[in-house]
Amino acid sequence: MIDLHTHSAQSDGTDSPTGLVEAAAAAGLTTVALTDHDTTSGWDEARAAAERVGIALVRGSELSTRHAGISVHLLAYLFDPEHPGLRAEMQATLDDRLPRLQRIVQRLADDGYELTWEDVAAQMEEGATPGRPHVADALVARGYAPDRSAVFHDLLYSGSPYYVPHYAPATADAVRLVREAGGVPVLAHPFAATRGRTIWPDDVRSLTAAGLLGIEVHHRDHDPDGVTLARDLARELDLVPTGSSDYHGSGKVNRLGERTTDPGSLERIEAAATGTPVVR
Ligand code: AMP
Ligand code: FE
Ligand code: FE
Ligand code: ZN
Repeated sequence: MIDLHTHSAQSDGTDSPTGLVEAAAAAGLTTVALTDHDTTSGWDEARAAAERVGIALVRGSELSTRHAGISVHLLAYLFDPEHPGLRAEMQATLDDRLPRLQRIVQRLADDGYELTWEDVAAQMEEGATPGRPHVADALVARGYAPDRSAVFHDLLYSGSPYYVPHYAPATADAVRLVREAGGVPVLAHPFAATRGRTIWPDDVRSLTAAGLLGIEVHHRDHDPDGVTLARDLARELDLVPTGSSDYHGSGKVNRLGERTTDPGSLERIEAAATGTPVVR
């Protein structure tokens, strides 16, 4: 059982990298990928845990990118984390995420919400990628909402008056950099319409021309039409189809292994990668 998309507390998940790897083994997974947003800071800890519990670990990240004004999440697997160009883009995104989150908090505070930056910082692990879920957790802790989802629905959805964007590289540039770094770029949940505007099939075609190698087909945010569209594009463009949980610990309802990737797809990803080996 192979799950290629999960988050630890090094971004907006709630399990430590160790806890995540242990939970993955306990859930019966044989392979898990750690894909924290815009960072590799959980890789070393996850590796040690994977070697200890005996599960295969694919080290990766979910990169925040933008294509024609649309937010696009790009899974990047098995890349060299020291590649200067890719590192610089990931760092530029990280560097802008903190002031951006502070501006979101300021907008909420200006509107009367009793919320301070300290509240948000208290929800974040050392070295974690700052994101809207941490603001959501702080609002939940203050009693404004029952859970993260409610905050996203009412206050923090993209396009809300409190929403502030952050820097993100162009998707095609990120695709090229991931390839240059020996990694495998895979579009995450491309047709997850509940999150806002999504890209079109022609965008997937142009990103494939830029070097895209895979597409997430099975994901809980895809409705049946989205699954069909992604699967058809995978066939048309010879992209590696994947499936995954997008687990965030207790931050989302997604459960480890709820959707999975075929062994043949993992083989194709591993064969295409030269940046970092799979931990076995
Ligand atoms: P950011 O990257 O800071 O803009 O925050 C986006 C993150 O928020 C995504 O990676 C999701 O994990 C999370 N998210 C988006 N929508 C929801 C939701 N409805 N409930 C819980 N988490 C969400
Ligand atoms: Fe997330
Ligand atoms: Fe995502
Ligand atoms: Zn994700």
